[in-house]
Amino acid sequence: MFIFLFSKLYSRMRNFLKIYIDRLGDGQTEKIEETVPPEMIDVNETDLQFKQPVFLSGKAYLAEDHLIIQLKIKTEAEMPCLICNEQIQKKIVISSFYHTEEVANIKGHIYDYTGPMREAILLEVPSYVECMGNCPKRTELKNYLDKGETQFPFADLN
Ligand SMILES: [Zn+2]
Repeated sequence: MFIFLFSKLYSRMRNFLKIYIDRLGDGQTEKIEETVPPEMIDVNETDLQFKQPVFLSGKAYLAEDHLIIQLKIKTEAEMPCLICNEQIQKKIVISSFYHTEEVANIKGHIYDYTGPMREAILLEVPSYVECMGNCPKRTELKNYLDKGETQFPFADLN
């Protein structure tokens, strides 16, 4: 039962990010307006989690022998603050995701852009975050460092 439900959900998810090339003949533009579950990003690490949906809006069209996908992508990553380790919601906004794919390379005339979308999101994730851009605990840490008691791995970030 569980497996059935899961595979049903999974196949539903798999249908989200597909472009059917055959529907794009004669200069047609497909409008894209999707909200997809964060599981699509397929990342679940201690330092990086996605719990909010991914919002996509934009269009897909053909330009000669290429499929062009233009999107605005919005979601939220959850990461620990570099200083105090508190979980932070970091907004991820990609205002102009642009992906092209040669139509000849698209198997079965259905293009799944999950991979490129996922990659774009992960590239946009900062390598570290701090509470409100300036963790209140930073001062404590600084005092600690000034005493020179120990070598702290993030000391060179200041
Ligand atoms: Zn903090």
